[in-house]
Amino acid sequence: MQIPDITVPTIAIAGSADRFPVRRIFCVGQNYADHAREMGSDPDRQQPFFFAKPADAVVANGSTLPFPLLTEDLHHEVELVIALGAGGANVPAGDAAALIFGAAVGIDLTRRDLQAVAKKAGRPWDMAKGFDRSAPIAALTPGVPADNGMIALDVDGETRQSGDLSMMIWSVPEIIATLSTYVELAAGDLIFTGTPAGVGPILRGQSVRATIDGFEPLTVTFAR
Ligand code: MN
Repeated sequence: MQIPDITVPTIAIAGSADRFPVRRIFCVGQNYADHAREMGSDPDRQQPFFFAKPADAVVANGSTLPFPLLTEDLHHEVELVIALGAGGANVPAGDAAALIFGAAVGIDLTRRDLQAVAKKAGRPWDMAKGFDRSAPIAALTPGVPADNGMIALDVDGETRQSGDLSMMIWSVPEIIATLSTYVELAAGDLIFTGTPAGVGPILRGQSVRATIDGFEPLTVTFAR
């Protein structure tokens, strides 16, 4: 058998024909107080915590996706996604903005039924969060994103999630700084920064539209 020829996953850049290469995907859990409460946590006593998805979980804007395997409770989580153009370990929050290449609208798709089993058993979240095509992302807008602006998601035109980036418990610079104490960050890393309240199920055949003020809207549709 021949050695396989593997390509690096990439995401679109707004206003450019160039593509952004994806190295790793990190995600922050429960970074909006209203979502932390809906998941049964106390947002005031949580340090930021992290999980990951494989780089090839990225999905282009406008895709029609097969319904994910092994779930009957697929949830949407609209999130601001940060793309790093540079890295480092133990980065001070005051230096974190200099690492940012750009930002985009993303959806942290979650097999909530598998996550519930994992949580109850004290097991890892990988199979609940890091499955195939679990990270739809619209085109990146280069530059450092604003720390406020409406973030929302609808399913078949019905509003499910609506919040503001200013409701984040941990700011983007604080997330980068804290994550860089766990791993040495690098160019090509993506960071999903958490979701506001209103997460809920997506059914077969439904379309999901996610928006953040100033960014390309993201739409994905699930096959029947
Ligand atoms: Mn999330």
